[in-house]
Amino acid sequence: MSAGRAVWVLGEQRNGSIHPVSYELLAWGRTLADDLGVGLECILVGHGVAEEANQLIMRGADRVYCLDHRGLETFRVDPYARLIEMLVREHEPDILLAAATTMGRTLMPVLAAKLHTGLTADCTGLSIALEERLLLQTRPAIGGNVLATIKTPSHRPQMATVHPKSRRPLPADPSRSGDIEVVEIDQALLASRVSRLHFEPDLTMGSSIQDAELIVAGGRGLRTAKRFADLFEIAKLLRGVVGASRCAVDQGWASYAHQVGLSGKSVSPTTYIALGISGSPNHLAGMSSAELVIAVNSDPDAPIFQVADVGIVADLAEFLPAWLDRLRKQAGENEGAR
Ligand SMILES: Cc1cc2nc3c(=O)[nH]c(=O)nc-3n(C[C@H](O)[C@H](O)[C@H](O)COP(=O)(O)OP(=O)(O)OC[C@H]3O[C@@H](n4cnc5c(N)ncnc54)[C@H](O)[C@@H]3O)c2cc1C
Repeated sequence: MSAGRAVWVLGEQRNGSIHPVSYELLAWGRTLADDLGVGLECILVGHGVAEEANQLIMRGADRVYCLDHRGLETFRVDPYARLIEMLVREHEPDILLAAATTMGRTLMPVLAAKLHTGLTADCTGLSIALEERLLLQTRPAIGGNVLATIKTPSHRPQMATVHPKSRRPLPADPSRSGDIEVVEIDQALLASRVSRLHFEPDLTMGSSIQDAELIVAGGRGLRTAKRFADLFEIAKLLRGVVGASRCAVDQGWASYAHQVGLSGKSVSPTTYIALGISGSPNHLAGMSSAELVIAVNSDPDAPIFQVADVGIVADLAEFLPAWLDRLRKQAGENEGAR
């Protein structure tokens, strides 16, 4: 395949409405396409999705391919992979990105095998090596101790899944224009060995930390269950929620629903307060798109300070009770003033 082809992203929908992760992918794709000087195109598969396609143009796509059919209403890997493979072979994009969601993680390996190309899973960063015009795909590796940057020099498309919430979407721009192409679908391509019987949401996995604007997160540096428990009061006083590193979850101080990171949740709050968290790549993978990061750690060389906007070097054994006291007093004064 020749260089100079478009960057493609795989949009996602739920019940006919575009899932916000599609806009995050478009933000990544827009930067890559602009660096390469090529178009950004989006594939949207589902039923009743064609009317929604303009949302993708407003968020950065130059063209949307809509695969709209009742038989595509819910995700089934065999017809989705067959149809996307057909489109990729026809248009030969240079890059194909999907979100590292259940759909992306299921579909992309199948597509990569069909297309005989490579796939880098769960990327937390993407950029272009301008001289070679190659996609640089960055992800944590070797137990999260290093960040590996991977290239796909000799096969096309260059394929990657991207960790959700690793990038903020671009604001919707109603003045943007682009093409929407509704792709004609051959019924024979819809055959599947899988049929959906019913859908049951996992109610044990609350989405509260993913929706929160302020997260007070604790790690092993809190040292005791009692000190971690104080975070719940602090979070309540600040009208936020509690997040945790995997070490804190492994200690039993918080449930898995609170875990932030590569194998936990990805969050994108306005403010992320990291207390006694070292800042391993596996943790940063889940919170790197937070707007403001405040970190408290006793080690001035802790890696979390490299991503923190405000860094406080302090011993949490002293810092935490003092801070909690102050928050309680402020809350009392506010209550008294009413
Ligand atoms: C496949 C894989 C997936 C993973 N997924 C995740 C994930 O989703 N989320 C995640 O968080 N991790 C994940 N990890 C684990 C990750 O690599 C780190 O081990 C983990 O994030 C470290 O947690 P921590 O920062 O709480 O602990 P540590 O790395 O032990 O850091 C503790 C910090 O506390 C500081 N400290 C100690 N005492 C004090 C004190 N008194 N006052 C102030 N600061 C103090 C220390 O200086 C240190 O920086 C994963 C690992 C693997 C292999």
